[in-house]
Amino acid sequence: MLITQLKEKEKILSLVSGKVFIINCQGCKEVHFPEKEAEEFQKELSAEGKVTGILTTDYICNPENMKLRLEKHRKEIDAADMVLIFSCGVGVQTVSEYLEDKKVCAACDTYALPGFQGVTPLEYDCDQCGECYLNITGGICPLTACSKSLVNGQCGGSKDGRCEVDSDMECGWERIYRRLAQVGRLDVLKCPVQIRNYNK
Ligand code: SF4
Ligand code: SF4
Repeated sequence: MLITQLKEKEKILSLVSGKVFIINCQGCKEVHFPEKEAEEFQKELSAEGKVTGILTTDYICNPENMKLRLEKHRKEIDAADMVLIFSCGVGVQTVSEYLEDKKVCAACDTYALPGFQGVTPLEYDCDQCGECYLNITGGICPLTACSKSLVNGQCGGSKDGRCEVDSDMECGWERIYRRLAQVGRLDVLKCPVQIRNYNK
């Protein structure tokens, strides 16, 4: 089982630029979702006129269903400068894969709890690290997309874009760089490294 917890309010507000489209994932029994806190926070954002629309649904980690749902909200998404997601790390990565030209941010951190976990077969994953990095890595998880789970950039060993540990996979950090360039956010790589707290 996973538990999602809202990031600090100040941290979420520092991510918000312009108008936002919000997605809540509440439908998976394997993930605890902080429903009340998310709702209160979103009411405040709406009262400030910053929200173009809210989609509350289940299993946003199912890419096919998610595409259909997102297309129903296409106008609200296009009217927004960014998409803010309240879900576990897999849900954020699913939306980020589809809305590749949009700034997509995670409002929650994902923690592991012993027990059963979701079984949607996907090429990407969340390692439930407790301090989500997706906001500084363009929605690609550095813990699972990089063979060494590096959180501070490329190791320097990739060849022709392939990982030096596993040549069957693309270098995760080259993917992160390309995605950040695509959404005009390469500046986040100049920020101080977010040191990983292994206690979490
Ligand atoms: S950085 Fe990766 S492992 Fe950590 S919470 Fe985000 S998606 Fe999960
Ligand atoms: S080559 Fe890329 S994906 Fe592989 S370990 Fe180095 S940084 Fe990580």
